[in-house]
Amino acid sequence: MSDKREKKRLAVIGHPVAHSRSPAVHNAALAELGLAGEWSYEAIDLAPVEFAPRVRAMEREGFVGANVTIPHKEAALRLADTASPVAQAIGAANTLSFEAGGIQADNTDAGGLIDALPGAVRGRRALVLGAGGAARAVVWALLREGVEVYVWNRTPLRARHLCDELGGKPVKAGVLDLRIYELIVNSTSVGLRGEDPFAELPFVASDLDEKHTVVDLVYGAPPSQLLSVAAFAGARTVDGIDILVRQGALSFEIWTGRKPSLGVMDHAARAQGLSR
Ligand code: NAP
Repeated sequence: MSDKREKKRLAVIGHPVAHSRSPAVHNAALAELGLAGEWSYEAIDLAPVEFAPRVRAMEREGFVGANVTIPHKEAALRLADTASPVAQAIGAANTLSFEAGGIQADNTDAGGLIDALPGAVRGRRALVLGAGGAARAVVWALLREGVEVYVWNRTPLRARHLCDELGGKPVKAGVLDLRIYELIVNSTSVGLRGEDPFAELPFVASDLDEKHTVVDLVYGAPPSQLLSVAAFAGARTVDGIDILVRQGALSFEIWTGRKPSLGVMDHAARAQGLSR
């Protein structure tokens, strides 16, 4: 039986996970709401083979919820007893809640992206770069907001499969004209290891201008090269931390029922980047 005096535990589960800013972000939000004595948030590194058995035991260990990141998002959806319509539609879960009755899966990546976008996007045209797990949430979220979505991926077949499943239109590099898009979302991992975005992505720096809003999901030491160039060209920019913080805030609210401070979470995420 769990000790009522024990803290309610939260975690981010990934492999690797040591780089994650989620513990700093969530513990800052808990402290700001006066909940740090009652709740705690930690990072747990689980290899794929360890994931399901450990997650099934978490409720007994006092965990109320967990964020799930690479490479476990699909496995998280599969092992949950119930899943929100959003998680089911995207085919991946980044948020688990542990209840006596079972494990509930949610996906806040989609909501986090939409909350981070400046202004209304309905009727706009978007170019989504990538066809992995993050791109699935981005494409689903934008389509649901009434955006006309085009998808480019380094491996074109994956873009076609994604569009067949979720909607949107695949585009190839040779026919891509950046002038027709208002929104450009980098949901590839280009930039994560210092790659030159203009060598790996299907456009050059001079294609970007003030009519674009450029979103880069990758976060490392912001601003990324893609966002620096976009900002210099006069584009509006949204970085990976803007999205991380908003998806984290949505997960936090599911577990605690409280709205955290986005400013406190953002500050904690960026401060951790500076200390590395
Ligand atoms: P993933 O499933 O492994 O997909 C990786 C994607 O990047 C694929 O489309 C892949 O193309 C493409 N890619 C990799 N290297 C490339 C290169 N050199 N040139 C062109 N394309 C390349 O990963 P994911 O889960 O979608 O995550 C993607 C990124 O989003 C990661 O950096 C992750 O950290 C970030 N992310 C951020 C947040 C946030 O809150 N800010 C949330 C989720 C994810 P191929 O299909 O051709 O391999």
